[in-house]
Amino acid sequence: MKAPSFSYVKPGSLGEVFDLLERHGDGARVLAGGQSLLASLNLRLSEPELLIDITGIPGLGGIAVSGRTLRIGALTTHRQIETSAEIARHLPLLAQAVRNVAHIAIRNVGTFGGSVAHADPAAEYPACTLALDASFVLAKRGSERRVKAREFFRGLYETALQPGELVTAGEFPLDGAGYRSVFLELARRHGDYAIVGLAAHARIAGGKISDARLAFLGAGSTPVLATRAAAALEGRVPDAQAVAAAQDALSKELDMPADLYSSSATKLHLARVLLGRALVALAT
Ligand SMILES: Cc1cc2nc3c(=O)[nH]c(=O)nc-3n(C[C@H](O)[C@H](O)[C@H](O)COP(=O)(O)OP(=O)(O)OC[C@H]3O[C@@H](n4cnc5c(N)ncnc54)[C@H](O)[C@@H]3O)c2cc1C
Repeated sequence: MKAPSFSYVKPGSLGEVFDLLERHGDGARVLAGGQSLLASLNLRLSEPELLIDITGIPGLGGIAVSGRTLRIGALTTHRQIETSAEIARHLPLLAQAVRNVAHIAIRNVGTFGGSVAHADPAAEYPACTLALDASFVLAKRGSERRVKAREFFRGLYETALQPGELVTAGEFPLDGAGYRSVFLELARRHGDYAIVGLAAHARIAGGKISDARLAFLGAGSTPVLATRAAAALEGRVPDAQAVAAAQDALSKELDMPADLYSSSATKLHLARVLLGRALVALAT
């Protein structure tokens, strides 16, 4: 199928974007890398009258560390995240995860802001932002607010973004020494959306796990923070008993939806397997 006809504009400032969003309301959509939006237009899932291309707006890109926070601008591409020395050094979870986002041609143009605003529950970044306790900077005319990732993802492709608002950046607190991360996912082919995945981040001291944040993707209508599994691990060496306790807690808290290829029971089994693997990887 082909996209419905639409008008296109590429403003040069955020002020112009806010004007256009105010003027066109629901009839306008922001266009970043286009890697999700253009597919949804071609499938006629969305029929906006106007696409507002934000890729010419200065100040919306870049990766920067300031104090104990790492900021990723909304227009930063997946490829820039993948090749960033700052990300490799400070956010190894994201460095591992981004290699699973689609294929390199898509990573060259798809953006961080587009991915989190799109809020696909099987996407890699939303789960990573939960595990890393990130916040998003949301801006509209005359105001800016910060929303924690755990409050941002509201439902299937649904976020806390209000009409007229843009994601301008993600902000990641930099944990001190002793934290480790592992990202694992199972997909039918490398680069496909995950069947199930896990972004795991925890403190390891004296062989014991604490402050574990276990965020699953492909596990519901939003990324899911497995708080009961994390609680089962708190202060424990991740030996066979602790892993089994965490897996049992996980079975009780995940309400796994079936997808086109896998039953709910299969997906839960895969989530348990990923948790076991992640705990081994975190501890070694
Ligand atoms: C074949 C294929 C495979 C893919 N596989 C994966 C995968 O495995 N994992 C994965 O995570 N993704 C995957 N993607 C999606 C890809 O990562 C996209 O880049 C991403 O989802 C959207 O980013 P974008 O910049 O292209 O956004 P766009 O497509 O331009 O926009 C997506 C949505 O976000 C809105 N939006 C964009 N930027 C902003 C902003 N700054 N503020 C507010 N709203 C905004 C748009 O209005 C639109 O609703 C795949 C895409 C394709 C085509």
